[in-house]
Amino acid sequence: MSNYLEQTLTCADCGKGFSFSERDQEFYREKGFEPPKRCKDCRDAKKAQRGDAGGKGNR
Ligand SMILES: [Zn+2]
Repeated sequence: MSNYLEQTLTCADCGKGFSFSERDQEFYREKGFEPPKRCKDCRDAKKAQRGDAGGKGNR
């Protein structure tokens, strides 16, 4: 039984709250990643800065 609940984390960059969904939590745990410190916007901005936004585009 999985008891993940959607969490609200605070972005280390912009200080805004962002949701860390149960699916994401499961994914991060599976991969052994640390929970994200930044909201999606800031992560995307970082990615774009590094120039590796990839060819996925916006959904
Ligand atoms: Zn942010």
